[in-house]
Amino acid sequence: MSSRKSDSLRSEADALIPGGVNSPVRAWKAVGGATRFVRSGAGSHITDVDGRTYLDFVGSWGPLIHGHAHPRVLAAVSAALARGTSFGAPTEGEVVLAKTITAFVPSIERVRLVNSGTEATMSALRVARAATGRDAIIKFAGCYHGHADGLLVRAGSGATTLGIPDSPGVPRAVAELTRVAKYNDLASLEAVADRDVAAIIVEPAAGNMGVVPADPGFLLGLRAVADRIGAVLIFDEVISGFRLAKGGAQELCGVRPDLTCLGKVIGGGLPVGAYGGRADLMDQLAPRGAVYQAGTLSGNPLAVAAGLATLELLDADPPYDRLEQLGARLEQGLRGALRGRIGCVQRVGSILTLFFGVERVRDYEDALKADTARFERFFQAMLAEGFWLPPSQFEAWFLSAAHTTEEIDATIAAVGRAVAASD
Ligand code: PMP
Repeated sequence: MSSRKSDSLRSEADALIPGGVNSPVRAWKAVGGATRFVRSGAGSHITDVDGRTYLDFVGSWGPLIHGHAHPRVLAAVSAALARGTSFGAPTEGEVVLAKTITAFVPSIERVRLVNSGTEATMSALRVARAATGRDAIIKFAGCYHGHADGLLVRAGSGATTLGIPDSPGVPRAVAELTRVAKYNDLASLEAVADRDVAAIIVEPAAGNMGVVPADPGFLLGLRAVADRIGAVLIFDEVISGFRLAKGGAQELCGVRPDLTCLGKVIGGGLPVGAYGGRADLMDQLAPRGAVYQAGTLSGNPLAVAAGLATLELLDADPPYDRLEQLGARLEQGLRGALRGRIGCVQRVGSILTLFFGVERVRDYEDALKADTARFERFFQAMLAEGFWLPPSQFEAWFLSAAHTTEEIDATIAAVGRAVAASD
């Protein structure tokens, strides 16, 4: 193992990799840059190449519901590794994983494995467009569904703004097919919903503008609008799937989507995504139907082994009650740590966000009012105390089953000091 330090690796990475990272948020731009390089993880902790250990609330951005390097996951991957890494032919594990997913999530009658959440959402949209013969889609401002062209679009100034690309390189012609409504606002959805819309895609618990729970009735409303205009309702459960409950957010809200996108937990820290749902929709896919979607490494044996081990653990010893208790304890402690300062803690199960400077966040516009300068000071103070938080005000903290009550209490105490230090 090399003994190079973060500073040296960072300057070399900057010259070789755009921005020094393989996914932008890792560069810590929102909190002053100078990311640290990680050497290893175990349970609830990670250790950087400089030898510092942190209590981790990123958890690889969601996959590691059982914590880092869980022995059962490692054993499953090692056993698969010994049999070979990839065949480009079907393997038994894929069937077992498909059976597990369809058992956990009843709305998923058929499922296809891919390699990332991005692939899952873009493929689900293709299926929806093929089924309806329509091109337009509706998404909600502040929801992230991966980086496919048509999904890198949010509201401009108004709730009903037609698509304006967030990124250069997204063809305007593609972005214009994306209509944007406000999260938790059915009136804004009605304003853009008509019979040209192939799909309504939503995070049923939003996690990419900070955590924003769906109001009771919002998701039911989406179902009703989708039914009325004949559009496909897609739940993007890349974060919430298997994390909020075995059956994801849809189990909790009782709304049955037509298609569901999965990622993160389903791969247990290896690259897996999936999309699935109604058999009549999924049976359009080649080779049964004419809708094309493929992948050299889709259903990769190592990734499937990690995912299966992760789901088997969730089944054998469901951590959801404990995660809820830990989450509630952390939520309450963080709220107390604000001590009268304006801010709020928003949580759904094991994901939460501490927002500074806003009393409540129901949609993207609210989120953008948060005090990011205070968050930066807070983040640095927490880092100095050995807590690895998401390096942005607009991301979720992820709890794992490896976190302990004592660690949560230590976090609350540190947050009290860091909040005071960031005044
Ligand atoms: N959907 C949601 C809800 C996500 O949070 C993410 C990633 N954070 C994605 C899709 C994209 O997944 P990936 O990064 O694996 O492409």
